[in-house]
Order: sequence, then C-alpha cells, then structure tokens
Amino acid sequence: MTKLRDKIKMTRCKYCKSKENLTVDHKVPIIQGGTGKNSNLQCLCRRCNGIKSGLSHKQVIRYFNWFIEIQESRLSAGKKPYTLR
Ligand SMILES: [Zn+2]
Repeated sequence: MTKLRDKIKMTRCKYCKSKENLTVDHKVPIIQGGTGKNSNLQCLCRRCNGIKSGLSHKQVIRYFNWFIEIQESRLSAGKKPYTLR
C-alpha cells in the first residue's frame, strides 16, 4: 500500500509556505466524507493542519477571504487591522 506521503509533492505547506514539519492533509476531511485519492490530498505543516482540523479546504479559504475582507474594510476606513490575540 502506498503511503499518503508518497502520493503528493511534500515540498512546502500550502497555507504558510513553511518547509518544516510537513504532513499530509485531506482537503475534505475523512470525517466529512473525504477520500485518500491524490486529488483530495495536500501538503500542510503540522501547525496549519492542526488549526485546519476538521474543516475542509473550501471552508478554510472561505474564512481566509472573510478575514481579509474585514481587514481591508477596516484599513480603508482608516482603522487599525484586527489582531486576534
Ligand atoms: Zn503551514
């Protein structure tokens, strides 16, 4: 049986571009019905994979875009961008 790591390019994290602690992520998580097919796999670092958790890649992108929109509207209104900690 082919290991998941051998099915895709493991060069850098798709989200943060880190080259360290790389893992294989299921774009659509198994828990949401995702499969082990190559088209459902992507390389993420351990941190990004942990934060993504049970979300699908599409859900993550939706949250990213939402957050960027909020930041851009704050900046265009002359306000400081949010920091979440
Ligand atoms: Zn990452």
